[in-house]
Amino acid sequence: MSTVTASELRVLRADVSGMPIEWIGYEEAVKLYYLDRVLYPMGQSLLTLRGGVNARTGLQSALDIHSIICTSGQSRGHLKRHPHYQPPLANLALFRRDAYLCLYCGGEFNVSQLSRDHVKPLSLGGCDAWQNVVSACRRCNHHKGGRTPEAAGMQLLAVPFVPTHAEYVYLSGRKILSDQMTFLLGHFPRNSPLHLRIDQLSETNKGAQVHGP
Ligand SMILES: [Zn+2]
Repeated sequence: MSTVTASELRVLRADVSGMPIEWIGYEEAVKLYYLDRVLYPMGQSLLTLRGGVNARTGLQSALDIHSIICTSGQSRGHLKRHPHYQPPLANLALFRRDAYLCLYCGGEFNVSQLSRDHVKPLSLGGCDAWQNVVSACRRCNHHKGGRTPEAAGMQLLAVPFVPTHAEYVYLSGRKILSDQMTFLLGHFPRNSPLHLRIDQLSETNKGAQVHGP
């Protein structure tokens, strides 16, 4: 059973339309609550923060921090829904997209052993973008060198895809709670290659518990 401490808590922030935007720490979530930017909380209560005691009523103030919050304000959610939108490219999210596999030899590696391979090398005019990059072990990346897979006699095991913003939020998340996962899955495209993988992972994610500070 995995456990999460308060400092590791990640609140999933969604915009006014319910589109997942980003992960924030609970301190930032508290700020949004006090700025009155939380339109409504969703998901489970992660922790309750106790404030001061009201001298008149004798009641102690309390704030529940929920796992998912829908917030007002700038999110550029409409841009993130655009068909040509590309989430930022980062190695950790890339390796996770490719399930920590080298897409040439099929071996499973840890993060320190993987590298970003440009399918069409930059030197040949390839771009540094999701559709042209794959996870590769250092050995395969070195062997491929500045060549295309065809020229190097190597075959790609999967076609690189551009994640939608919701998929990117998933790929960049750590210790995702089951209700956050369910929420994110609801925003994945029907044909997302991630569905199958998450089905397999979901058993291990069940029972994640949260502990207060
Ligand atoms: Zn390899």
